[in-house]
Amino acid sequence: MTWTRSFAQAALAAAVVAGLLPAIPAAQAAPDSSVAASADAPSKAATKLDIPLDVHLGYKPQKQCSPAAKPGAKALLKTLIKNFGGKSLGISRSCGAGGRSEHKEGRALDWARNVKYASQRRSANKALKWLTANNGEVARRLGVMYIIWNQRIWSTYYPEMGWRKMASRGSYTANHKDHVHISLSWDGAMQRTSWWTGKPVLSHPCTSKACPKGHVKYPQLTLTRPFAKKVAPEPFVPYPGPMPEISGSPIVGQILGVSIGNDKSWSPAWRLGKAVDCPKAAKCSYQWYRGKKKIRGATAATYRVRAADKGKCLNVEVTIRYKGKTGKKKAGETTYTIKGWVTKAPAPKLPKTAAVGDKLVARHDPWQPTTVKPKYQWLRDGKPIKGATAKAYVLKARDLNHKIAVRLTGSAKQIAAKSVTSNATKVGQKSATPTPPT
Ligand SMILES: [Zn+2]
Repeated sequence: MTWTRSFAQAALAAAVVAGLLPAIPAAQAAPDSSVAASADAPSKAATKLDIPLDVHLGYKPQKQCSPAAKPGAKALLKTLIKNFGGKSLGISRSCGAGGRSEHKEGRALDWARNVKYASQRRSANKALKWLTANNGEVARRLGVMYIIWNQRIWSTYYPEMGWRKMASRGSYTANHKDHVHISLSWDGAMQRTSWWTGKPVLSHPCTSKACPKGHVKYPQLTLTRPFAKKVAPEPFVPYPGPMPEISGSPIVGQILGVSIGNDKSWSPAWRLGKAVDCPKAAKCSYQWYRGKKKIRGATAATYRVRAADKGKCLNVEVTIRYKGKTGKKKAGETTYTIKGWVTKAPAPKLPKTAAVGDKLVARHDPWQPTTVKPKYQWLRDGKPIKGATAKAYVLKARDLNHKIAVRLTGSAKQIAAKSVTSNATKVGQKSATPTPPT
């Protein structure tokens, strides 16, 4: 997607010029010296595959009261406003306000964009496309945890789920129809991620007083891999933290795993170090939960999400036995399980203008997963045309001076339905045979 890359370059270049971040030194950022030679085009390395992606720790909710705006949140908000317009609705929130929110840690931002206005909608959508393209590569490099806009949510920890509908939270504002909310990881909030530094975060940030040796690299995520080329990203595995955490996305048919963590606060084997898998010297057992109930027989380290889990949250309890001692800990719940998701739904491109008698054909690239075969409905000025449900449509006399578009709706077994609409064709009179010049 050329726009994405050129925009990303422009955004980073703009940020460099604005003094928001240091220009990436050529040597560390990209082996190809032509790439990062000047401040005008420094971002190929930051947006392409030359450097590995940052690790992501998963969903780390607000835990403390530290409302001062953090530098990464300020810089990202500035970049959005500079490149896409709009204004700030703030970063910090008083800790006395109700509810859990990363605003109370100064690592969430609200960007004023209102779905009511087409231009604002377009600019928000452009910005969010830039953040989430290539399975969220730029979002990962910025340390984005999740984004909420127009009652939909997108998160880096459920990469296969894309944008998903959010249950109504009551009001226009609570449903994020008048602003975009972005929550950052602590690394993103502190501007430690590769977007800002040219160096990916590969190890656990040193946050505890002891600053343990545990700056271990997590091999799967430190590899340079053709992330951008993948249709569906690999399931996300949280970097081991204090508690067990679930990896993978809660979609029927997907396999969930667990990053056990292995922390002093609960595990007798903590001296063996934090880990994704059970340490060899210890013995681990697992119990998966659907809501509060144990799932019978689901006692392996992995769990394949079942149809019965649809609409429910899943959890797992890890038990570690070591040197005669036992520790137990539950992971944080997943969000509600969905049936499945259309990962790619390209819309057809119709000609800008056509004439009565012309045949319009809804040509488009295949949808993903390919089991999804979209159905067609032709629209006149946005309203369905009776009986016009084939892939092609011949323009009739009554279409003259109207706008014709086609809506595609796709669904399949275990896949939630998705619709997209093409651009509109303006219908004119069949042009007369050109008169020869006289
Ligand atoms: Zn917010």
